Amino acid sequence: QAKAHGRNNYQFFKRRINERAIKRFALEGSLRRAIAREEPAICFQPKMAIATREVVGAEALLRWHDRHSGPVSPSQFIPIAEESGLIIQMGEWVLRKACAQNRAWQDAGLRPIPVAVNVSAVQFRDHHFLDLVARVLHETGLPPQFLELEVTESVTMHDLERTVTLLEALKAMGVGLSIDDFGTGYSSLSYLKRFPIDTLKIDRSFVHDVTVDADSAAITRAIISMARSMNHKVIAEGVETEEQFAFLRAEGCDQVQGYYVSGPLPAADFRQAFLLPAAAPLTDAPLPTGAR
Ligand code: C2E
Ligand code: MG
Ligand code: MG
Ligand code: MG
Repeated sequence: QAKAHGRNNYQFFKRRINERAIKRFALEGSLRRAIAREEPAICFQPKMAIATREVVGAEALLRWHDRHSGPVSPSQFIPIAEESGLIIQMGEWVLRKACAQNRAWQDAGLRPIPVAVNVSAVQFRDHHFLDLVARVLHETGLPPQFLELEVTESVTMHDLERTVTLLEALKAMGVGLSIDDFGTGYSSLSYLKRFPIDTLKIDRSFVHDVTVDADSAAITRAIISMARSMNHKVIAEGVETEEQFAFLRAEGCDQVQGYYVSGPLPAADFRQAFLLPAAAPLTDAPLPTGAR
């Protein structure tokens, strides 16, 4: 009976794996067609300085609404794009789009802010990546300090010497550098010290539990104090509540990102909400002369 059970299990897993492969294959096909039609779009999520409550940056995030299956999450399609190599084309598109949008905002005389772009593992390992960044900055005319690149901790820890060289070259170009999802990978702290980065982003899994779980609170505190001692800025991602915000402020975190401030928005909405000159608070506004 145990044997029959084992065989059933095997059949079950085999079927599951086939189903997964088929789904993956179908998704890859839709993704290819979607890219050809320029269906994926980018949204912008604000980064807010805790001290001033001012929006001081944005992160570009890919959004894809498939005609048949509806919205597909980046955590679903990015891995597929990575395995199929589509990510090179897609990543280049996001980079160019984000830089061009930021340049257009600046040309319109809006408050200038840096825009961050996520860099996938495959892009980071690609030998043309450095050239690509230089080319896109040149072509869009965006000053390098208004581009920031986010690379996950696990990617930077892969080939340490190469990471140091690449980050140094990007830094020399003048772009900002952040380590994304910090705390979830296994950092070599001696290397982390050698990375010429500007910002550590505390992974949202810690932030999520910061007010209910002592370990998450301890890890968050440790990351903040480590970032400060290395002279990096530190930003918490996935901040959703006033309580989480209060904790992070008390612990000396620099910036927050999350639904507490705003989710990712289409470019026009982001501009409307965060880039127009701040209106004076209603109570302080002088009455129009005609009304006096
Ligand atoms: P990430 O770079 O860590 O981005 C943060 C993710 O958290 C985004 O998910 C964002 O929508 C989500 N988020 C923001 N605020 C909150 C919050 O308050 N609560 C919760 N629960 N979630 C929040 P998204 O857009 O689904 O992206 C997931 C991941 O996919 C990103 O993680 C990033 O690694 C990757 N990704 C997204 N766009 C791109 C891209 O253009 N290129 C590459 N290579 N990767 C991308
Ligand atoms: Mg990111
Ligand atoms: Mg992140
Ligand atoms: Mg994350």
